[in-house]
Amino acid sequence: MKWFKHMVASWNDEELAKLVGKGGMEGLAMYGFYWRVIEVVAPHGGKVTYPTLTWAHYCGLKIPVMNGMFLRLHSLGIFKIENLNGDEICVAIPETLVREDEGTRLPWHIWKEIRVRIFSRDNYVCRYCQRVVPRPECDHVVPVSRGGGHDDANLVTACQPCNRSKSSKMAEEYR
Ligand SMILES: [Zn+2]
Repeated sequence: MKWFKHMVASWNDEELAKLVGKGGMEGLAMYGFYWRVIEVVAPHGGKVTYPTLTWAHYCGLKIPVMNGMFLRLHSLGIFKIENLNGDEICVAIPETLVREDEGTRLPWHIWKEIRVRIFSRDNYVCRYCQRVVPRPECDHVVPVSRGGGHDDANLVTACQPCNRSKSSKMAEEYR
C-alpha cells in the first residue's frame, strides 16, 4: 500500500514528471535515484542523516554524481537536502510520501525480532499445512490492508506456497 501511494505521489509530482519526461539516460537515472532515496528514507519516517559515504554506498554512485543528483532534486523542491558537500547529508522527503500509512509498516529491525519470535513460537511449522519449514515467512492472518495488526495473535508462521496461495485467494476476492 505504501509503495502504491509513493507511486501515485510520484506520478502527480509535476517537477519529477518534467525531469523524467526529458527522457534519455538522465531522466531514467534520476527516476531510479529518486526511488532509491525513498527506499532508504521511508523507514525512518521520511528524514534521515547518514555519512556521505554511506549514501554513496546505498545509491551505488560516486559522491560527485550523487551530490549532483541530490542538488537537482533539492533545487526542484522534490527532496529537501541539508548539508550537501558536508561529511553527512540529511535528506527529507515530502511528508505526503510517507504520512498516509505511517504506523502500518514497522521498522525492519523490529519486524526482524517479531519474525524470530513467531517462528520459534510455532516451532517453524507452517500454520496452514503443518509442515516444518526451513525458510518460513511470517504471515498476517488478517492482512494489514484490511486493518490487521502486527500483534502476535495476528501473526503466524507460513511456508512460501501457503503464503502465496493465501495472497492469491485474497486477490481473487477483490476481483
Ligand atoms: Zn504451508
